[in-house]
Amino acid sequence: MPTTAPQGAKAPRTAPRRSAKNTAPRGGIDLGGTKIEAIVVDSENTVLASARRPTPTAGGPSDVAAAMVEALQQACQAASVEPAALHGVGVGSPGVIDGDGAVSSARNLPGWDGKFELGSALSGQLGTKVLVGNDVQVATDAEFELGAGQPFESILGVFWGTGVGGGLILGGKPWIGRGGAGEIGHVVVVKHGARCPCGRRGCMEAYAGRAAMEARARRQVNKGKHTDLFRLMEERGRTRLTSAIWAHALEHGDKVATKIIDKAVDALGAGIGSAVNVLDVEAVIIGGGLGVRFGDPFAERIAAAMQPHLCHDDQPPVVRVAALGDLGGAIGAALLAR
Ligand SMILES: [Zn+2]
Repeated sequence: MPTTAPQGAKAPRTAPRRSAKNTAPRGGIDLGGTKIEAIVVDSENTVLASARRPTPTAGGPSDVAAAMVEALQQACQAASVEPAALHGVGVGSPGVIDGDGAVSSARNLPGWDGKFELGSALSGQLGTKVLVGNDVQVATDAEFELGAGQPFESILGVFWGTGVGGGLILGGKPWIGRGGAGEIGHVVVVKHGARCPCGRRGCMEAYAGRAAMEARARRQVNKGKHTDLFRLMEERGRTRLTSAIWAHALEHGDKVATKIIDKAVDALGAGIGSAVNVLDVEAVIIGGGLGVRFGDPFAERIAAAMQPHLCHDDQPPVVRVAALGDLGGAIGAALLAR
């Protein structure tokens, strides 16, 4: 079922050439709550070099911007190109982005309560133009143009990680609504249900987000249930339950982990299935740290969990894992700078 092509599927598109003259490399920076991933790509979107830095956990927006500059400089060095020689740099950032590259409501980032002129701060330090977009939407754009979404005209990107983000392509074009579309993590799957990191109740993310799942696992431990999750975390010198730790626990039959993940898959099925009922997209692309780590078997599980919620269950959308993996966000960001 997840691999059958829907009606209207078309041949893979070739990347549009916005400017035949522009052959200068471009930069892309994916700003995440945990890490900053910077890349340099050539005019065909091939990754020439990448660099990664942890996202600062203290300080404020200017400290985050400084770490982003360092990451991009490091990637540039590896690609033997000066930042100022880049055609431009694209940034995928959480939060609400205005037309001038200012970022507000980036609640996973330290001290980012107000609005910060991220685009101009980076541009000043890098010596090239900087364009800022929403992190999840640029990752969806990248999957649409270069990854698993290529055969389709309408896709829903679901990025299953610390939170659950969503991005939309409808009729071949990104749909951002009034700037706030795609918040699939906050569709309600249980009325008056579990408290979500967003402060509301019963959201899909309250069951499927890694942060919410970790809090759930801690409550199970406090109730005296046994799990290896936190022992694995300590052994690996981590401060949170990473995708790899969840995957390891599942592979070894950890009961607490299995139950929490089962619940997450159920929630994803209800939430994504409901969104599909509204949008009737051709394909759902599952990305994010957990989505990519768990891979095809979980794309199939999510497709099966969606099935009972679909009005048109004889015509389910294709469900695929994001093809660009960990670098998808940064590649999508670099697309902004064409
Ligand atoms: Zn929520």
